[in-house]
Amino acid sequence: MLEGLFRIIETLFEVSIRPDRAPVWHPSVRFFRIERAGQLIGQFYLDPYARNGKRPGAWMDDVRARWARPEGMLQTPVAHLVCNFAEPVNGKPALLTHDDVTTLFHEFGHGLHHMLTQVDELGVSGIAGVEWDAVELPSQFMENFCWEWDVVKRLTAHVDSGEPLPRALFDRMLAAKNFQSGLQTLRQVEFALFDMRLHAEPGSEARIPSLISEVRSEIAVLTPPAFNRFQHSFSHIFDGGYAAGYYSYKWAEVLSADAWSAFEETAHDGGVLNVTTGRRYREAVLEAGGSRSAMESFKAFRGREPHIDALLRHQGMA
Ligand SMILES: [Zn+2]
Repeated sequence: MLEGLFRIIETLFEVSIRPDRAPVWHPSVRFFRIERAGQLIGQFYLDPYARNGKRPGAWMDDVRARWARPEGMLQTPVAHLVCNFAEPVNGKPALLTHDDVTTLFHEFGHGLHHMLTQVDELGVSGIAGVEWDAVELPSQFMENFCWEWDVVKRLTAHVDSGEPLPRALFDRMLAAKNFQSGLQTLRQVEFALFDMRLHAEPGSEARIPSLISEVRSEIAVLTPPAFNRFQHSFSHIFDGGYAAGYYSYKWAEVLSADAWSAFEETAHDGGVLNVTTGRRYREAVLEAGGSRSAMESFKAFRGREPHIDALLRHQGMA
């Protein structure tokens, strides 16, 4: 699976990924280097497996960022990619769920944003200085590969027989992903609008129950019962740092789906790995980091502002 992921990145972004050496904090942690034409671009640690005492979840974080240092040396970026997959047992390979694979692709998207940057200023290289509502574009973009049959059939293998995932099962997974996606979308829009109005309309904090009712009367198809107190336990916006920013979840989906549709448009022979489109995406979005606004980067890639059409199509609504 990792080989498949690396091959996608190598093809699309014109790099090579090789094992590298560095001291590691656990024997299961691996270290790699990314090169282009023999030049070192970045390096990363991969810490894939759950173990006692390890923080749960999955994330990418920077060890150091690209920086043209004052004394004249170019510092290349280093990342760590951390997941909590079930480790291999009884001499068999680690068995990843489709969710695990999607998570790995997601975190690699963040990693590529950090590592492929060509910006020399520390404050805006890689993920530094990128607007909150655009940081999930590169990560959600990578998730699309996990829902592309041509990719999935090469990426998967049954642990005993080596057979790829059956097409019929893949089709059912896709249908399950999009089950009630319209209601899911309305729910997200309801949360986002409630959050935005709460923070944008002075005095609305004194009438939280009526505010959510107003939003629901505009958005909701299914209305929760009157005793429901979701609005008082919406921890994302009161406690999770997403105040006035909840919309960014849906917005990042719009951006990543629209970016992905550029690859669908340039696909040939059923393959989305178009090197020319990959280069344009890399140069416009991944390499630019926070050196300009995310909207400028998006328009540099797509030639226009984002549209919602691709997202609706990917989620089975259009
Ligand atoms: Zn993310």
